[in-house]
Amino acid sequence: MKPANNIQDLQYFGEFGGVNPSITDSSTFTFLQADSMSELFEIEKEGCYLYSRHTNPSNKYLSDALAAMEGTEAAHCAGSGMGSIASVLFQLCSAGDDVLSSRTIYGGTYALFKNFLPRFNVDTHFVDITNLESVRSAITSKTKVLYCETMSNPLMEVADISELSKIAKQNNLTLVVDNTFTPMIVSPIELGADIVVHSLTKFINGTSDAVGGVTCGSKELISSMMDVNSGASMLLGPVLDGLRSSSILKNLHSLHIRMSQHSKNAEYLASKFQGDGYQVEYVGLESHSNHKLFTKMMNTQFGYGGMFTIDFGSLKKANLLMEEMQNENVGYLAVSLGFYKTLFSAPGTSTSSEIPEDEQDEMGLSDGIIRFSIGLDQDIERTYACIKECMRRVGV
Ligand SMILES: *Cc1c(COP(=O)(O)O)cnc(C)c1O
Repeated sequence: MKPANNIQDLQYFGEFGGVNPSITDSSTFTFLQADSMSELFEIEKEGCYLYSRHTNPSNKYLSDALAAMEGTEAAHCAGSGMGSIASVLFQLCSAGDDVLSSRTIYGGTYALFKNFLPRFNVDTHFVDITNLESVRSAITSKTKVLYCETMSNPLMEVADISELSKIAKQNNLTLVVDNTFTPMIVSPIELGADIVVHSLTKFINGTSDAVGGVTCGSKELISSMMDVNSGASMLLGPVLDGLRSSSILKNLHSLHIRMSQHSKNAEYLASKFQGDGYQVEYVGLESHSNHKLFTKMMNTQFGYGGMFTIDFGSLKKANLLMEEMQNENVGYLAVSLGFYKTLFSAPGTSTSSEIPEDEQDEMGLSDGIIRFSIGLDQDIERTYACIKECMRRVGV
């Protein structure tokens, strides 16, 4: 699987031979004949557009590039990662169906499953996704969807997608994988996933100036989601603006280079800090419990990714260090990831705060953990020295 090649090989031209596709700055599209309009309400036609909530050329260019990256027949973009995740779940599940999900997932997704979907009689059972036996035994006749993240936020646990896909196939479940942390690095479809979702907001866009999401899957799934009468994307309406689609597409063309640099920098810092005696969770370290599994799953040329955590023992120490690192311009105290600057936050009190404290304890989410999204720093030795000085000052 060569995700970067697949994107590189696409050819899009703009009007007048532009090397980038023209931006579609229109919500609606004209028809020369009245009867072709009613036809388009019935069936999709290549190259014909109706109304931009359905789709428009700019969204289609980005969607096609992301489908090429993930190796799916089709894809559909949304205005946020949550827009994609919610739409695909609403599309797949009806009242009475259950979801079986990893318990270590993004806080927003967790809240959607735990608090919101039950209002529509869709219940979620949360399991330790690294324990395949507990996954198997949690399946019931109601289970419809198996949901996980390739690498989970914030504990850096890795889902064994090949094995999960076998379980899904045996039990007639749809395996949905959120690949937001590891675009290019892991190709879930190749490993047997049915559907891949991403928050484009993070690594894929990479400039922290836009929010977006995508669902990658079969033509049948994507068409069903866009159906004018019954499609979740069409009817819930989480459309991505065409101007944003075109800017995200341009950023996508440097994703492979950025992922390699994020990985290179994170690998350097993680091994240095581990050598210094800190409790580092980075999947690129041999000490990480899923290191071997991840190594088997990954497209090696992009490295182990830009995310790691360090446990500093208490929230107070973690907070002091984050403030100090921000003062010294190591990076920013902010949620989100995949920016050129390093971003850090304490997941227990921020991005995973939707997860109740007792459940956080059970999954090993201590409140002294700092999650780092390592930036594109050219001189990572200098960054290391600067963080070390911050650590010395705050006494961790
Ligand atoms: C941020 C994030 C989301 C949600 O995406 P938005 O674009 O913020 O809606 C979903 N999954 C993961 C793993 C994320 O990091």
